[in-house]
Amino acid sequence: MTHAHIDHIGMAPWLATYGTLLHATDLTAAVSEIMWSDTYKVSDIEGYPLAWDKRDMEVALDSWMPHQFDEWFSIGDWKCRLHPAGHIPGAAMIEIVTPQATILWTGDLDTRDSPNAPRAVPVDCDILCLEGTYGGRTHPDRAEEEGRFVSRVLEVVSRGGTALIPAFASGRGQDILRILHKEAPHLNVHYDGMGTRVTKEWLGCPEFIRDAGAMKSAYRWARRVTGKSDRKKALRADVIVTTSGMLDGGPALWYLNRLRHTSSNAILLTGYQAEGSGGRRLLETGSLPIFGNQTRIPLEIDKFELSNHADHPSLCKFARECEPSHVVLFHADEGAAKAIEAELAVETEVHLPSNNDTLEI
Ligand SMILES: [Zn+2]
Repeated sequence: MTHAHIDHIGMAPWLATYGTLLHATDLTAAVSEIMWSDTYKVSDIEGYPLAWDKRDMEVALDSWMPHQFDEWFSIGDWKCRLHPAGHIPGAAMIEIVTPQATILWTGDLDTRDSPNAPRAVPVDCDILCLEGTYGGRTHPDRAEEEGRFVSRVLEVVSRGGTALIPAFASGRGQDILRILHKEAPHLNVHYDGMGTRVTKEWLGCPEFIRDAGAMKSAYRWARRVTGKSDRKKALRADVIVTTSGMLDGGPALWYLNRLRHTSSNAILLTGYQAEGSGGRRLLETGSLPIFGNQTRIPLEIDKFELSNHADHPSLCKFARECEPSHVVLFHADEGAAKAIEAELAVETEVHLPSNNDTLEI
């Protein structure tokens, strides 16, 4: 298991019921429990089916085989080890040395240091299985984008408004706290949602965090929202950082429903807004469903590219430096995968398998 984002661990409880062991870092194991419990809770409330139940989750929790980075372990005649993948703390790439070939599976990766995760570095391999989320796209300069973000927050606060910052629980929210704590420590920042629990797990595994001391200070500096009265107080804050990052639920909608009446407030989106998500609808139509009612949000909305994925030039550079004979692309839509193929196919064999394809090398 490369890391604890739900699109990478969501089916693991189902797998574990077949006796499958789950290899990962300690931190991925710890955060997965929070993510699974939340998925279970939401599926129960919203009535969508899951491929596993609570008992399967218990089995999965007993199936973890935690590893440190760089520590070799064996699975049959394979030798494996985990390497930092950037992306979020505890995220790992897995190097698998089989008798025939060395494989590197990247999971989600970033070759830049983020506020909380040290970057991925290339690993020599024969077969590189590479994520391609940002194939064909180039990120703006990270430092400049962080600067633009901080200036916009200060602008909102100086006109008397509250900046609502919907952020993912595992990665983006903590990055936002680090940035604001460093650049604007005078602000009154409230932190709500599942991210507070995830951060506690992070602080229990400081070896995976880039400057864990600074994360701890930022976490203590932010006012954690723990109950209803805290939530009401937070409405007068300079900044509220909360889940869900795509405005699909969580405290973010509760806040939005109250903040929408004061035009000095603003919504600052900090992550990808998937098709069909509340955040995407807000960007496209200026309204989104809140507790079942389509609601107009007449507030300033801005969007920032603070991605923790490598962009196209970085993915291609990373792939070249691993010197593989084969590159297998995954976690990419067709256009993104084609863009990477177009660049790398000149020098190496590139595979774009579809779901359910068997790939023989
Ligand atoms: Zn991820």
